Amino acid sequence: MTGRSTHTFVCPECRRSIEVDDAMRATLLETGCVVCGAPVTSSHV
Ligand SMILES: [Zn+2]
Repeated sequence: MTGRSTHTFVCPECRRSIEVDDAMRATLLETGCVVCGAPVTSSHV
């Protein structure tokens, strides 16, 4: 355990599950899914 807060993001489009930290979460919300590029909202991550 690292003690950092992580979130599990599941893409609504490609169903890919990705562990993200707060910084990565913010990036996802801004740029969308790293796998398929689908838009991501805060309810997904
Ligand atoms: Zn995706």
